[in-house]
Amino acid sequence: MEKTLAIIKPDAMQAGNAFAILELITNHGFKIVRLAEKQLTAYQAEEFYAEHKGRPFLPELVTFMTSGPVVVVVLEKDNAILGWRDLMGATDPAQAHEGTVRKLFGTSKGNNATHGSDSQASAAREIAFFFDRA
Ligand code: GDP
Repeated sequence: MEKTLAIIKPDAMQAGNAFAILELITNHGFKIVRLAEKQLTAYQAEEFYAEHKGRPFLPELVTFMTSGPVVVVVLEKDNAILGWRDLMGATDPAQAHEGTVRKLFGTSKGNNATHGSDSQASAAREIAFFFDRA
């Protein structure tokens, strides 16, 4: 079984969509093995998105990710990493397929409702970023 990290971002939390997103996740066969609510600091958001250092949208991303609480979730399933990326849909909700989380709950390329690890290395790093053991 593979594990991946999902984050319900501040836009989805503020819109009251956290439970609907978690329900969609479990309806697709993912097991929720860790779940926590966090308020990220700017330092934590910059660390988490370190791969985007220098990108023009990073300051906006950090402001957004610290604008309110998030829910961080470790999901488990066969091929969880790719499976969750598929269920989330494209980064830009306008490009995301019908039925995907970002199509349903995202409103812009920045405010796109959820995060998902993009590789095994990222999943391991991101899970360890939030949880001592998963
Ligand atoms: P992801 O793996 O699909 O989340 O996409 P990326 O790793 O490319 O980007 C990380 C996050 O940065 C995205 O989920 C968006 O929230 C945000 N982001 C990416 N591109 C842009 C952009 O052009 N403008 C803004 N404001 N945010 C962006």
